[in-house]
Amino acid sequence: MSILVLKFGGTSVASVELIESAAKIVKSEYEAGNNLVVVVSAMSGATNILIDHVNKINYDDDSEYDVVVSSGEQVTAGLMSICLNKLGVPSRSWMGWQIPIITSDSHRNAAIKRVIPNAILKNFDDKKVGVVAGFQGISSDGRITTIGRGGSDNTAVYIAAALNAERCDIYTDVDGVYTSDPKMTKNVKRLDKVSYEEMIEMASQGAKVLQTASVESAMKHDVDVNVRSTFNPKDMGTKISNDIESDNQAVTGVAYSKDEAKITLIDVEDKPGVAAEIFNKLAESSVNVDMIVQNNFIERKMTNLTFTVPMIELERSIKLLNDLKQKINFSKVLEEKNLSKVSIIGSGMRNQPGIAAKMFDCLSKNNINIEVISTSEIKISVLINREKTEKAVSELHSTFNLDKI
Ligand code: ASP
Ligand code: MG
Repeated sequence: MSILVLKFGGTSVASVELIESAAKIVKSEYEAGNNLVVVVSAMSGATNILIDHVNKINYDDDSEYDVVVSSGEQVTAGLMSICLNKLGVPSRSWMGWQIPIITSDSHRNAAIKRVIPNAILKNFDDKKVGVVAGFQGISSDGRITTIGRGGSDNTAVYIAAALNAERCDIYTDVDGVYTSDPKMTKNVKRLDKVSYEEMIEMASQGAKVLQTASVESAMKHDVDVNVRSTFNPKDMGTKISNDIESDNQAVTGVAYSKDEAKITLIDVEDKPGVAAEIFNKLAESSVNVDMIVQNNFIERKMTNLTFTVPMIELERSIKLLNDLKQKINFSKVLEEKNLSKVSIIGSGMRNQPGIAAKMFDCLSKNNINIEVISTSEIKISVLINREKTEKAVSELHSTFNLDKI
C-alpha cells in the first residue's frame, strides 16, 4: 500500500464544482488502495483578496497578516473534505497548526522546519484521507504563519517527505512542464522528465508552474514530484526527480520574467567593502538582488555597479541607496524599468561548449540588444528590452531545437 500526496492548486479548486471534480480524482486513487494526503491551495484569487483587505488598513502587523491570509486554505480544506465524505471517501481536514507543521517565526515568509506526521499516519489506520490546508504552519511560539506566495507546493513536498510518500502529485491547470510558456510561444513541447536542478532554474527564472522553494525542498528530501493536469488526470504529466538520462539536448527550456528592473550606481568608489555595504543594506530590507555586473575603470579608481531587482522592489531599493549616500561615494543612481530577463536552461550545458555564443548569435541576428548577462553552470540569462521578450523567447526556442524534441 503506497502513500501518495496529491496537491491541488488554486485553479483546480476555484469553485465548488471544481472541488467536487478534484475530489473524484482523489476517490479513484483511494479506491486503488493508496493511503492519501490531499494538500489544497486557496480558491484561485482568494489569497489576493485577503491581502487586499489587510493592505487597506495600512498598518504593519505581520502576525495578524498571516492569520488573515492563511484563511483561504482553511475554506478549501473544509470544502474538499466535505466533498470526499459525500463521495463515500472518509476524510478530515487538518490546518497547519493541528498537524503540526512547525515553521520559523518570520511571518509572511516563514520556513518550514519540521512536519510531525504521527497524527496523519494514525488517520491511515482508520482508512481516512487527510486533507491539509497548504501555505500555513505554526511558529514555535504558537502563532499561525504563512510560508510565502505559492507555498502550498512546498507544504505538499514537506508532507511527502515526512510521510516518506511514494510520490507527490501536483495537480494544476497545465499537464506538465513545457520547454517554454505555452501561453506565449508556439510549438512548445511537454517534457516527460526534468531534473531538480533544471526545474529550480526554470522556476526561479520565471516558469510559474511550481514554486522554486518547493523544488529545492524536493531535491533536499529526495521527493519525486509529478506535475499533472486536473483536467486530464489519467496523464502522468512531467516527472521531476534526480535521475536524468544524459541525451544530446544542451538546453531543455527557455524561461522569462517581465518583472525586472535595473539599477546602476555611477562612479562608485573602487575600494574594499563598498559592494558589501551596498548589498548588505538591500539584504537587510529583504530586497532580492539578482544579476550583478561591475565595471572598473582602473586608472580612475571608480566603478559602475549594475544590478537587477524585482519591479516591485525598485522604489524601495532606490530609497535605500540614496540613504547610503552619506556612507559611500557615488555620483548618481540610474534606474530602468522596461526590461525582461530571458534564460536558457539545461543540465546538458555542462558538457557542451558554445552554448552562450549560440544564444548571443541568435539574439544579435534578431537585433536584440543584451544589457546584462549572468550565468550558472546550467543557465544563461540575459536582460533585454521588454518589448522583445516574445521574439527572443521564440527565436531561442527554435535555435536550440526545442520545437523538435
Ligand atoms: N494561496 C497561496 C497563494 O496564492 C498559496 C498557494 O496557492 O500555493 O500564494
Ligand atoms: Mg501555485
